[in-house]
Amino acid sequence: MVKIERTDSPEARAAVESLGKEKVRPSGTYRTEEVNKALGLMFAHKCYLCEQKGLSDLQIEHLIPHRQNRDLMFDWNNLFLSCAHCNNIKNDKYTPILDCTRTDVDKKIAFHRYRELFEEDRLDIVALDDSLETKNTADLMNEVYYGTTPQKKAEAKIIRERLSKELDEFQDCVKSYNLADGEDKKDCELSIMMKLKWNAPFAAFKRWMIRDASDKFPELLKYCQ
Ligand SMILES: [Zn+2]
Repeated sequence: MVKIERTDSPEARAAVESLGKEKVRPSGTYRTEEVNKALGLMFAHKCYLCEQKGLSDLQIEHLIPHRQNRDLMFDWNNLFLSCAHCNNIKNDKYTPILDCTRTDVDKKIAFHRYRELFEEDRLDIVALDDSLETKNTADLMNEVYYGTTPQKKAEAKIIRERLSKELDEFQDCVKSYNLADGEDKKDCELSIMMKLKWNAPFAAFKRWMIRDASDKFPELLKYCQ
């Protein structure tokens, strides 16, 4: 989970306008075409919770559960994009959590992947301060990546496998950067920069790989902002 800017755009303004119209209709819906389009663009079609990209089951999620409160239900600033797995886990169980459009979540929570020889990778997701929001968010992240029910555990295992594959590729990329020189090194650096951006899959875990290697690659830390 990393920070994602809620930028002003023609699509966002159209979404806000559609929400205003729907709010006053008794059977109004926040699931408008404009909202879907604007959220897709804003979140780069990535689930803001598990950070998977390219999924077909993305849903409109309310950061603060609306519980039929129409102000919260139709508030553009309360609408986020998440996959069905994460939306279902978060539900209204985890509240309040950190708002990733206002907070650098990966600076308040550490995201680590540890490789165990002959075993599955182990994820370690830890809150770095004592606030309720940070603690709830870290707990939510752990449930997202591990699940608690048999169904969610099976879904979470698939997410962890995708995460491991992505992090292995990223590790190879950093290794190539380390061994390259001249123009090749510049190309590798550009590739690393892209993989650390807010719109890249599993960016929080990748940023922590770079932070943990800051002695070796201090020049890459600027891409973890
Ligand atoms: Zn998700």
